[in-house]
Amino acid sequence: MVAVTPAELPQFREIHRSFQSGETISQVLSECGVSAQNAEVWIKAAQRVYNLSRIFAGQKLKLNVDTQAQDLVSLQMELDRETNLVLRRKEGVVVATREMVELGRRLRVVQGTIAQSFYVSASRADVPEEIISDVAEVLGWDLNFTSDVQPGATFSIFYDETPRAGDAEDAPAAPGRLLAVRIENKGKIHEGIYFRNPVDNSESYLNRDGRQLGRAFLRFPVAYTRISSEFSSSRFHPILKRARPHNGVDLAAPTGTPVRAVADGRVEMADWSSGLGRYVSIRHDDVFESGYGHLSRIAPSLRPGSMVRQGQVIGYVGATGLATGPHLHYVMYKNGTYINPMSAAMPRARSVTGTALERFRSTVTKIDAAYAAAGRAGGRLAVASAPAAGNTTRKN
Ligand SMILES: [Zn+2]
Repeated sequence: MVAVTPAELPQFREIHRSFQSGETISQVLSECGVSAQNAEVWIKAAQRVYNLSRIFAGQKLKLNVDTQAQDLVSLQMELDRETNLVLRRKEGVVVATREMVELGRRLRVVQGTIAQSFYVSASRADVPEEIISDVAEVLGWDLNFTSDVQPGATFSIFYDETPRAGDAEDAPAAPGRLLAVRIENKGKIHEGIYFRNPVDNSESYLNRDGRQLGRAFLRFPVAYTRISSEFSSSRFHPILKRARPHNGVDLAAPTGTPVRAVADGRVEMADWSSGLGRYVSIRHDDVFESGYGHLSRIAPSLRPGSMVRQGQVIGYVGATGLATGPHLHYVMYKNGTYINPMSAAMPRARSVTGTALERFRSTVTKIDAAYAAAGRAGGRLAVASAPAAGNTTRKN
């Protein structure tokens, strides 16, 4: 646990250490050759910034010890990922400060073969949990991880992480973003490649051809329990007691269930609309428009003209207007005519084009080079990199 690095003078020792469970700072200092009297001075000085009785197992410590004087020259302790406590002697007085730690960036590629499940094999290969769940999300449209993936399938996962400046190279670092994944299963390749579009700054995962993964439209805007009324050109209306076309589909769900925009678009209406109660409609493009009725609440920031993203919560299921129970009345217009959103052919996801596509192709070339380099290195690659433009720290 104790690593000594050669210092200029033999009396000075630099010691890297982690606290063991149950240890106190006094024990550690004494073990490192600091007299009890001197230790007390440093611990007291730290008090103004941090209480050194509040330490936890695994917390890292770097000490510079003057073995002759049985005293410290400096002490540095990790408080959290981005902050260190630093104690130094300045003109005879011990001064304590909190200092921000610089976060670097390291690129990692991990390759492996799936034995029983993707999850087990990836975590055995030390792929962080967060990255594994990103993989499942990114390829989830394309690949059913619980039933489709067979033993013998291979994976390549490319992600970045943010090591703390001064940490040892093999010290664990916080995972950043999934940059690319490739799974070869039953002779078929499933890929997702992270891309920030330089033209509109949108971020998405694309396949190798530059087509967005997933669909242009979500299949359902809500997690519903059942379809309480189908789309039909004529049905008996339960409240109006007469035959009337049902221009949408009713998705029964408990009051308060979030309702999501099925695709990117611009809000046309976010208001009360007689029988539909609280109603939101979204124009997606020249052709498609969707509508969401009987909402108990509309998302507070939503106004006509607001831009929404696919999957964004626009309101919550309710029973406002003419409704016998909580459900979402979901409608889809194509060129101004109602269509059945459950069966109509929806447009495929968009592709990047033009200059964005050129940029994307060079990204793909770099990823292929990283995969190949990892292959030559036995399935593992770690490369220090310049910090990413933009924040790669996870926002969970
Ligand atoms: Zn309805």
